[in-house]
Amino acid sequence: MGTLVCRNCNKIIEHFEDEKVTVLYSNCKKCHNEDHVKENA
Ligand SMILES: [Zn+2]
Repeated sequence: MGTLVCRNCNKIIEHFEDEKVTVLYSNCKKCHNEDHVKENA
């Protein structure tokens, strides 16, 4: 099983089907929005 984790707040965003145990990092919606706000600041 794979897990998608927010690299900013370490919150688990979602699980997905995978033969191996895999961890991928991304941004959750909340942190993505915060990044977007920073870019515009
Ligand atoms: Zn986050």
